[in-house]
Amino acid sequence: MIKDNLKKIKQNIPEHVTLVAVSKTKPIQDIEEAYAAGQRVFGENKIQEMATKYEALPKDIQWHMIGHLQRNKVKYMAHFVSLIHGVDNFKTLVEINKQAKKHDRVIHCLLQAKIAKEDTKFGLSFTGIKDILNSEEFMELDNVKVTGLMGMATFTDDTVQLNEEFSSLFNFFKEMSTKFPTLTTLSMGMSGDYQQAIANGSSMVRIGSSIFGVRNYIT
Ligand SMILES: *Cc1c(COP(=O)(O)O)cnc(C)c1O
Repeated sequence: MIKDNLKKIKQNIPEHVTLVAVSKTKPIQDIEEAYAAGQRVFGENKIQEMATKYEALPKDIQWHMIGHLQRNKVKYMAHFVSLIHGVDNFKTLVEINKQAKKHDRVIHCLLQAKIAKEDTKFGLSFTGIKDILNSEEFMELDNVKVTGLMGMATFTDDTVQLNEEFSSLFNFFKEMSTKFPTLTTLSMGMSGDYQQAIANGSSMVRIGSSIFGVRNYIT
């Protein structure tokens, strides 16, 4: 099942787009099944759940933290996390930098932009992102590297609205990546909207329910 779902999605996304298999709330066995089918990049939204899974599973898995971050828990993933998608304030970057330094690592991060019209989605304004990237305090953080931007669109079937939200982030990303060449990744698109996201320039999609089935509880 999981194997077939993965195969179907892989056929739907171009080769240059990275697939993050979102395994939050799903058991180890489901991840093992995806792993056996060749999947190596997995996304989780709770730091402790991700750390438990990291301990139990093969070490060539790349673990992406896609959820909203609790600063006091960054230390539990600093030794292994491969990419942090949801950074939406400068203080969190400072904490990631501090914890990364302890492990002599440089942790890659994406800044999360708020593109949805809903109040429930976290994220920085475009101005907020610019301010961070241009600040001297940011340039002093040697153990974090901002490698791109992340965004979540409104939960809607309205393709006009989705295209608007995704394209606004893509255009901003293009503008920023010419100024800051380390910005190479644009993470946008989930099970319900990844095709629109890719059509609008996404280079990384985060797909959960279309691979692993619907989740039993909301996180
Ligand atoms: C849960 C989650 C996803 C995956 O959602 P699906 O609709 O199951 O594909 C993607 N991104 C973030 C930030 C999430 O929390």
